[in-house]
Amino acid sequence: MARYSGAVCRLCRREGTKLFLKGDRCFSAKCAVDRRGYPPGQHGQGRARFSDYGVQLREKQKVKRMYGLMESQFAATMKRAARMKGRAGENLLLLLERRLDNIVFRMGFATSRAESRQLVRHGHFLVNGRKATVPSMLLRQGTEVTLAERSRKVTRIAGALDALESRSLPQWLEIDKDHFKGTVLAMPVREDITMPIQEQLIVELYSR
Ligand code: SF4
Repeated sequence: MARYSGAVCRLCRREGTKLFLKGDRCFSAKCAVDRRGYPPGQHGQGRARFSDYGVQLREKQKVKRMYGLMESQFAATMKRAARMKGRAGENLLLLLERRLDNIVFRMGFATSRAESRQLVRHGHFLVNGRKATVPSMLLRQGTEVTLAERSRKVTRIAGALDALESRSLPQWLEIDKDHFKGTVLAMPVREDITMPIQEQLIVELYSR
């Protein structure tokens, strides 16, 4: 599967907001958005003016980069969201939240979505007792995610779990650190996503 391999802090600077792509560094004084809060490149400090299309494009890029998807995956998720009942933009965000890699990150087993995706691919997790290696798998209410027995001594996972206190666990998830197990208590709702996202702009972009 293709993936972006460039400098990720540039992506945050391009979108003008923290996308939390680098784990602990994002919460430190080293964050590039805090230090150089303007877009990267030679003309980064110039005056930027966006057309309606440009505004919609930037919003889509922001969400796509935040969840670490490539364009084709994102477009497919948007298509699926549009076919579902309710508002397409809201459906899109809720589908992204229900991905296994996002839930592993939200439960605190990893410090970033990129790290959680790698851990999932390497087979460190069981979903309802069965090994799961597909980061895009959508989880339902009541699903249990458990860290595999052999992975419980992996330093970076233990470190991420220890650091969970500094981040907040969403209400729709529960984590039992002693048993290395998390549960999806409920399906997420729009209010659970606290990042500033205008999903309607993304819907408008794909409706062009
Ligand atoms: Fe983005 Fe994190 Fe880099 Fe800050 S440290 S610019 S939030 S990836």
